[in-house]
Amino acid sequence: MKILVIGSGGREHAIVDALTRSPQVEKIWCAPGNAGIARQAECVAIRETEVERLRDFAAENGVGLTVVGPEASLAAGVVDCFRAAGLRIFGPTKAAARIESSKEFAKDLMARHGIPTAGYRTFSDYGEAMAYVSSRPLPAVLKYDGLAAGKGVVIAQTMEEAGAALRDMLLDDKFGKGRVVVEDYLEGPEFSLLCFVSGRRVWPMVLSQDHKRAYDGDRGPNTGGMGAYSPLPFITEEDEREAVERIMRPVAEAMVAEGAPFEGVLYGGLMKTAGGIKVIEFNARFGDPETEVVLPRLKSDIVDIFCAVADGRDARIEWDDVPALGIVLASKGYPGSYEKGYEIRGLDRVEGTVYHMGTKADGDRIVTAGGRVLFVVGRGATLAEARAAALRDVERIECDNLFHRTDIGHWALENE
Ligand code: ATP
Repeated sequence: MKILVIGSGGREHAIVDALTRSPQVEKIWCAPGNAGIARQAECVAIRETEVERLRDFAAENGVGLTVVGPEASLAAGVVDCFRAAGLRIFGPTKAAARIESSKEFAKDLMARHGIPTAGYRTFSDYGEAMAYVSSRPLPAVLKYDGLAAGKGVVIAQTMEEAGAALRDMLLDDKFGKGRVVVEDYLEGPEFSLLCFVSGRRVWPMVLSQDHKRAYDGDRGPNTGGMGAYSPLPFITEEDEREAVERIMRPVAEAMVAEGAPFEGVLYGGLMKTAGGIKVIEFNARFGDPETEVVLPRLKSDIVDIFCAVADGRDARIEWDDVPALGIVLASKGYPGSYEKGYEIRGLDRVEGTVYHMGTKADGDRIVTAGGRVLFVVGRGATLAEARAAALRDVERIECDNLFHRTDIGHWALENE
């Protein structure tokens, strides 16, 4: 089968890598891809939001399956566009993807269907929002209702911070004209449960956790994620069952009941609180960087899974038990401003797997081309061994403008 993957990051590199392990794959294209992906697939210069061009490319080249990586493509309606042309595609429709793109939609859906999440109210008026926040205990959790490039959530420790954030979101329209969801503050370890979902069918993947903060000790600004690992020793099988049976399956049912059946990867950002497992957020696609530690553990043929989801058939999915831990190498300055174009050397000396997140080819050289640049995955009998393997490989990579965390997985390693 000929396959097209849409996207250009570490997530898409991990998807392409998993596809290369399938005996059914004849040819892989990736649009637009990156310098690492180019070693395993043919890159096509079409941006992830150019949905009509992507559709035409798939139709003209006999693509039998298209796999969507990024949220931006879903929000641009890529799935609806491919379906209308009778092309097979793995991902949710624009209507189903609202579970990620609108926090208000997701919260209301959970409320209507009794799915455990933080209590909340939604506001469009600054004064009303301030009055509500003043009447509640701090910290206040304020979420802009819409896509805000990871900057739309503020955990305010003081009323001054809450006031400033609400002013940005509701008076100054910093992210556009929108509403704000004010949530109760929850406490407990967070984890990610990605599931393949096809209507009512739900196949959980292995659990993972990412590290959002830029620096060791979970300090510094929030990022897209500086590392991830799988499995999670502090989440029991019973917790996992609770998460699947009380949250992921009911959400899939709810989407069907409300006329927007979900197909693709439903990502549960969950928290283990004293009052049980609760939803922090949903994403409508593979997480980045969680995918880069989850898919290496997949034993089954990923083409069978993608096709089963897209065609509404059953699938059997098996995972291996070998821990995976990955470390992001990011450009100095990230998540703030940073420079690009620094040469990366030593990739041929790496013993494990490196997924490219933001690189590009410059003649024979590979150079940095993004905030997050590389994702180095270590495997081992334990998470500690997996981390040691990843750190050894990180040392083999030379570049003058990268930094990384050394403590990915610390939470689990303390409990392993
Ligand atoms: P992401 O970049 O993960 O997609 P997002 O912008 O969609 O993030 P959320 O995941 O909803 O935002 O929130 C970001 C982070 O804020 C969470 O990972 C969590 O640590 C914290 N958070 C969100 N909601 C709550 C809550 N109700 N109680 C405590 N912490 C919360």
